[in-house]
Amino acid sequence: MRLVLLGPPGAGKGTQAKKIVARLGIPQLSTGDMLREAVASRSTSGLRAKHIMDRGELVPDEVVVSVVTNRIDHLDTANGFILDGFPRTVTQAEALDQELATRGIKLDAVLELEVDEDALLDRIRGRAEEATTSGGYIRSDDNPEVFKTRLDVYRAQTALAKLSPHPMRSDT
Ligand code: AMP
Repeated sequence: MRLVLLGPPGAGKGTQAKKIVARLGIPQLSTGDMLREAVASRSTSGLRAKHIMDRGELVPDEVVVSVVTNRIDHLDTANGFILDGFPRTVTQAEALDQELATRGIKLDAVLELEVDEDALLDRIRGRAEEATTSGGYIRSDDNPEVFKTRLDVYRAQTALAKLSPHPMRSDT
């Protein structure tokens, strides 16, 4: 089963992806996680991505497409995968179409999570406060200011992309 999971930041894509992983035994390919790993390893692409991610903006398409296509070629995706947080732009969706076609494989479904924006902002504020009080880990882009940028970017570049003449689709 090859799935794409779409939705605004904070909607719970990661949480839902983990449930699907447990149910179907296919890997979760989260571009956010892969980029955070690249940042932690201080690789060239990671260092390039860090400042962009900290501002809540999108990492260039060519960087993300290359990270995803390399990952899709790992042996553990033989029975499928869940793309979490990719594609986020029309260019990425088109690149995905092309990369899948080259490999002779197709998506089975695209799932979109819809959550009310006020609920998302409340959730992020709650998470930030909880982490501050407990001294727990908090992502550098999980604060209310950057979160608003991430939401704006989602609206402008991902949600609108779905309405373009090349919608993110599962029938190609
Ligand atoms: P996420 O963990 O999915 O919320 O992603 C965290 C950050 O990683 C985003 O705010 C972007 O800066 C970057 N990122 C993740 N996926 C993509 C993508 N498909 N295209 C561009 N940037 C991405």
